Amino acid sequence: MSKGHQRVEPQRMCAACREMRDKRELLRVVRSPEGEITLDDTGKRSGRGAYLCLRPECLKRAQKARSLERAFKTKVPQEVWEQIAARVEAAPPPESPEDKES
Ligand SMILES: [Zn+2]
Repeated sequence: MSKGHQRVEPQRMCAACREMRDKRELLRVVRSPEGEITLDDTGKRSGRGAYLCLRPECLKRAQKARSLERAFKTKVPQEVWEQIAARVEAAPPPESPEDKES
C-alpha cells in the first residue's frame, strides 16, 4: 500500500487558506458539544474541530472570511481570536525557501 518507509504525518486542512498541512503545524480550534469555542492544544478534545495555520495571513483571512464561524456555525469569541493571535505571534516564522546565509 505505502511506498517506502516514509513517515506520514496526519494532514489537516487550514480553514483559511485550505492548504493541507501536517497536523502539528496547525492550530486546532474546537467547538464542544455544549457549543463552547476553545483552542485545543492537546489535539484530543472532543467536539467539532477546525484548523488554522500558524500564520498571520491565515489568521487575518479567517477573521475576514469568517472561516471558523462558518465551520462551527457559531460566533467565535474575541478572547479566542486573541488566543489564536498570541499563538501565531509566538510561532516560529515559516521556513523561507531562500538561503538566508549569503
Ligand atoms: Zn492557512
